[in-house]
Amino acid sequence: MSLADRFITHTVENQATPLADYDAFATDPALQEALQREGGGWARDQVAAYGPIAGGELLHLGFQANEHKPVFKPFDRYGHRIDQVEFHPSYHRIMELGVRHGVPNFAWRHADRPGANVARAALAYLHMQPEQGNNCPLTMTYACVPTLRKQAELVRDWLPRVTASEYDGRPVPAWHKAGNTIGMGMTEKQGGSDVRSNRTRAHPVGSGGPGQLYELVGHKFFFSAPMSDAFLVLAQAAGGLSCFLLPRHLPDGSLNPVRIQRLKDKLGDWSNASSEVEFHGAAAWLIGEEGRGVANILEMVALTRQDCLIGSAGIMRQALVQAIHHVRGRRAFGKRLSEQALMKNVLADLALESEAALALAMRVARAVGASDSDPTEAAFARIATAIGKYQVCKRCVPMVNEAQECLGGLGYVEENILPRLYRQAPLNSIWEGSGNIQCLDLLRALQREPATGQALLAELRSVAGEHRLLDGETRSIEQALTDSGHLETRARHLTGRIALALQAVQLLRTGHGASPSCSSALAWAASTASISAPCLPPRRLMR
Ligand SMILES: Cc1cc2nc3c(=O)[nH]c(=O)nc-3n(C[C@H](O)[C@H](O)[C@H](O)COP(=O)(O)OP(=O)(O)OC[C@H]3O[C@@H](n4cnc5c(N)ncnc54)[C@H](O)[C@@H]3O)c2cc1C
Repeated sequence: MSLADRFITHTVENQATPLADYDAFATDPALQEALQREGGGWARDQVAAYGPIAGGELLHLGFQANEHKPVFKPFDRYGHRIDQVEFHPSYHRIMELGVRHGVPNFAWRHADRPGANVARAALAYLHMQPEQGNNCPLTMTYACVPTLRKQAELVRDWLPRVTASEYDGRPVPAWHKAGNTIGMGMTEKQGGSDVRSNRTRAHPVGSGGPGQLYELVGHKFFFSAPMSDAFLVLAQAAGGLSCFLLPRHLPDGSLNPVRIQRLKDKLGDWSNASSEVEFHGAAAWLIGEEGRGVANILEMVALTRQDCLIGSAGIMRQALVQAIHHVRGRRAFGKRLSEQALMKNVLADLALESEAALALAMRVARAVGASDSDPTEAAFARIATAIGKYQVCKRCVPMVNEAQECLGGLGYVEENILPRLYRQAPLNSIWEGSGNIQCLDLLRALQREPATGQALLAELRSVAGEHRLLDGETRSIEQALTDSGHLETRARHLTGRIALALQAVQLLRTGHGASPSCSSALAWAASTASISAPCLPPRRLMR
């Protein structure tokens, strides 16, 4: 035995290989089916082209972008205020890929084709699986469009760049770039959910009014992606809370006085910079009438909430894929982990939860996309976005944890993506309206817009007769909705139940004909029904 051989302590065996360079679209039949089912099948080639990127380059870049967090540079070397945030090149490359493949713009560039928003949702779902930090700027850039459209000058001057397929991360004026990104500033220290408490003040520079220039004085406590080319912000004008477009640079090319105070030290979402800012007389154009700020920015918020739902479904899918890959590559007690009865049970639950999240997200995306032409779909989108965001974003946290556990100790180690997913998972349920706010939104919609309740019940009844347990749950939900007693106190329980029933409906829709998903639908319907009828044979999903 040589000296070197004497110090060979062990050989590495029975370890799974890293999951890398796979095609995230080709390996996802549930996504392919959903794209087709919800009307985006015509864009299959464009979506499919993103599959190998999402399972390849984006996965690699995601690790780099999170390892090298953004750095705040308040001054240049000579002491000039520059208020810059420097990102690692991997962040810019991820942005570039997302923009080029349509994550923020596909729905707008193909707006004349029904299903464009579904195809865009599929792209976003793929994009949000390997790296989540730049979902924030990509989503806000996508979501700002309906609000920008409220002001003709902005449509002319900004919309072409906001919906362009080019990304340019340089800190230069927006009009020197082929493509722009947009951020959003609503939350202030004294109130986030309750934006009517905003104190930032807006003073007209001239006569004031829609499309006119104002000066903003105040602050925002959360202001993500501060290197965006412009921001939709809320501020108090003489006529009340109003919505403005605030560019990063002034028309003369100098920096708009938006002073970054610091970057937030966040639990997760590391590749994205979230800042605190002050407006020192920052210039901004009024969108729409003074006093209509909440109504005008809410259209953006509705789309960002839709993306929270899609994003959480994406995180779930990534967690599931990692878990399955690992347990196939590792053995314990004489068998592969994937062949152990209890592990199969866990994986089945994870897969069900992931498919149900995707199915609901894609259904909501169809309704959102059809909202302009179909009032029933608009009503369904209005209510189902809140329901889906509440449920799927909340379920994402325990679901990722369960997937982590499938990897054992490795699931807790940073070289793996699971710890990053776990840190990211709670965020979608907090921002863009936390859980309670979604539940209150559901109640508000039911009370003020009766068409939303009708659209919801029509959706639940659309599969009537197909599954006994779901039929019973639908009747029970109808009854619960007519009982007005203590509605606010019951709102969380009610929202959760409706969400599960809606997910069961979507899975049953996938089960029409000979689809193999049929068994998922039945399993989900059974688990849904067990919520209201606990005496039924329990097949509960990780509860
Ligand atoms: C990483 C990160 C990035 C962010 N980026 C941005 C950004 O770019 N732009 C931006 O504007 N904001 C941003 N936010 C802010 C985010 O949208 C808010 O934090 C969120 O809306 C909640 O507001 P808040 O923090 O003031 O909490 P609060 O409004 O104080 O809410 C605290 C809790 O009270 C609950 N609550 C509130 N009202 C009621 C009620 N009536 N009944 C029952 N419960 C209630 C809420 O659901 C929540 O659970 C970001 C947040 C994070 C974490």
